[in-house]
Amino acid sequence: MSSPATLFIDGAWVPASDGGTRDIRCPADGTLVGTVSEATTEDVQLAIAAARRAFDAGRWPGLAAAERGDALLKVASALEARKDEFARAESLDTGKRLVESEIDMDDIANCFRYFGKLAGQDAGRLVDAGNSNVVSRIAYEPVGVCGLIAPWNYPLLQAAWKVAPALAAGNTFVLKPSELTPHTAILLMDVLAQVGVPDGVANLVLGAGPVAGAPLSEHPDVDLVSFTGGLATGTRVAAAAAATVKKVALELGGKNPNVVFADADFDAALDNALNAAFVHSGQVCSAGSRLIVEESIHDAFVDALVRRAQSIRLGGPFDPEAEAGPLISAGHRDKVSAYVQRGLDEGAVLRCGGAWGDGELAEGYYYLPTVLDEVKSGMSVVIEEGFGPIVTVETFRTEDDAVFIANDTAYGLAGAVWTQDAGKAQRVAAKLRHGTVWINDYHPYLPQAEWGGFGRSGVGRELGPSGLAEYQEAKHIYQNLQPAVTGWFPTHER
Ligand code: NDP
Repeated sequence: MSSPATLFIDGAWVPASDGGTRDIRCPADGTLVGTVSEATTEDVQLAIAAARRAFDAGRWPGLAAAERGDALLKVASALEARKDEFARAESLDTGKRLVESEIDMDDIANCFRYFGKLAGQDAGRLVDAGNSNVVSRIAYEPVGVCGLIAPWNYPLLQAAWKVAPALAAGNTFVLKPSELTPHTAILLMDVLAQVGVPDGVANLVLGAGPVAGAPLSEHPDVDLVSFTGGLATGTRVAAAAAATVKKVALELGGKNPNVVFADADFDAALDNALNAAFVHSGQVCSAGSRLIVEESIHDAFVDALVRRAQSIRLGGPFDPEAEAGPLISAGHRDKVSAYVQRGLDEGAVLRCGGAWGDGELAEGYYYLPTVLDEVKSGMSVVIEEGFGPIVTVETFRTEDDAVFIANDTAYGLAGAVWTQDAGKAQRVAAKLRHGTVWINDYHPYLPQAEWGGFGRSGVGRELGPSGLAEYQEAKHIYQNLQPAVTGWFPTHER
């Protein structure tokens, strides 16, 4: 059998140079989804070289920004037209419910549309030089070749948050999706080629992080690396990028507090606490994995939460009854199991879950929705990201306590506060050291609003105007309208 040609380099679909391949299996039941190329280091070098040529000598960076924006608007329309195909591919790779992948595809189209419209809106700014003989302006230019490294939880969504602004700003890129979830990135390259993105501007390499991803943070011809994934890998990426002083953007997850005051709308807070913790089986960087509930309603709230968590139906992507899917891999399920066990060893009380799915679920990597009660500051389950269907419960008595506990984390990605007291909501929101704060809601985000983290949740922002600025260099152009001799160094007669 010939090797699949699923690397996209310089406008062409090519196999891995050594013919290497990887089988992709659905985490819901292990069925073979497809076989894709596994890039070698040499393939990655070719992709970087193609992106470099397209940036240095190609027409994309010099196009009118609005023209690049038009291409992105066409991408949005193409994604909508092929939504079913894209959503199915995403669900097969990740095991997530089809309806969730469909929502992701809508969000992705909106992301391309947002950056398509933003392109060219800001032509820079004039600066008052304090001298009428000078014209001084700031121009925004593309950074260059971008290495874009995306994770497996929202494969195309996280890639789109990077690809769309990178293209809008006039950059070229090499995208490396997770080795576990390559198929929607392959489909995206097809769309980019169809809407006329020139050869070499968009390149795709597939394969394992250390081989296909690491060169993007190390190579001197890459100007910027944008990474979404775990803290440990992100730290390695940033350290490698430092050697060539690349621009670095990192989105590294969170340990996100969901603060519920006794005066909150009980049913809404409860329903959203489930959604916060268990949507996509908790494999969400902004998952509300720390429930911080006022002591007076702890028993009623947690009892109800446990009952509801126990009734969540797990199942595969195309099971109409399923409410949540499997974890991404056997290895990840092992990590989640070990994480929960550590919590129990340190004194957490298991209220539900804490086990793999059995019966029909035994074919996939299912883990039951888990509530760990009576956790204390300093326990590993309160400090470390679990990235599974696990919520820990802490209690507070005063507003100050609630804020202290919510901020007692090295991360700072997102958090929520539930109360019907508008003043209290605003006071708490102002004090939370997190990049997104929801009041009486959980999880919504907007392409036009910045997303990113305080502390160890990352560096930089995706989405919003700042999400475009990540991919731009600001250049100061100073023109003297009346050049004259300065006399700084006088002419000396010899
Ligand atoms: P990683 O952080 O390892 O993976 C993210 C991306 O980085 C993947 O494309 C991965 O490739 C790639 N990568 C791995 N090693 C390197 C490297 N040396 N240089 C460049 N790129 C590399 O995530 P994991 O899948 O291992 O998950 C680990 C933890 O990260 C999770 O348990 C979770 O806590 C967190 N996580 C957070 C996410 C978020 O949205 N913030 C998303 C996913 C995970 P490959 O897939 O081939 O390994």
